[in-house]
Amino acid sequence: MFIDTHSHLNFPDFNEDYPDVIERAKSVGITAILNVGADLSTSKRAIDIAQKEDLCYATVGVHPTNTNDLKNKDYPVLEDLAKKKKVVAIGEIGLDYFYHKVPREIQKESFKQQILIAERLGLPVIIHNRDANEDSLAILKETKAKRGVMHCFSGDSNFARGVLSLGLHISFTGNLTYKKNKPLRGVARGIPLERMLLETDCPYLPPQAKRGMRNEPSFLIYTAEELARIKGVLIENLGEITTKNAKDLFGL
Ligand SMILES: [Zn+2]
Repeated sequence: MFIDTHSHLNFPDFNEDYPDVIERAKSVGITAILNVGADLSTSKRAIDIAQKEDLCYATVGVHPTNTNDLKNKDYPVLEDLAKKKKVVAIGEIGLDYFYHKVPREIQKESFKQQILIAERLGLPVIIHNRDANEDSLAILKETKAKRGVMHCFSGDSNFARGVLSLGLHISFTGNLTYKKNKPLRGVARGIPLERMLLETDCPYLPPQAKRGMRNEPSFLIYTAEELARIKGVLIENLGEITTKNAKDLFGL
């Protein structure tokens, strides 16, 4: 039993065959998939899919690299979308200083505004952070965001400590299985199971065994196997604990 807490079946990559992709996910024991919004249109698409597919939930948010086009009038639209059935989080939101597509001040303001929406609606946040550890933690502290997940974790143990001390969860993708990511596996070893989530971030970041392919929720198993090995637990136990964590956090 596993939950893919961060998937993008709402992206055009899956337009043709997402029902088949969901069937394959079911066949390996995936019991829920969260399709995560990255702008207004993919947020709406995530809600459409959630309404059709039992297994799927939606999240609503604007990814930091898309915040250039975000206008003040868009926030109430986002907030209304977030009130729809099966919307379980605000995300993905955050800061991305790797790409220099959007000025940092604009990213920070959009991150804060969207955390405030989550707080008003009592929803957790799904956070994207790249090369912005300090600013991300500062904003999360300042806005007193209490429930959420640092998605696609790739930081060091210092950053992990910061995230955990805020009460947030940490989520791992297929990049945990990459040969070069030995340090990340070391960091994962020190994170309590009770604060871990699993995700694919598909179509991106396929696990080592599927590199070069379009990633999909059924490939979550590879990351789960690696994490079980790292933590020295049976994969069944890892599935049970991370499923409970996801259910509690997102109210599934
Ligand atoms: Zn994503």
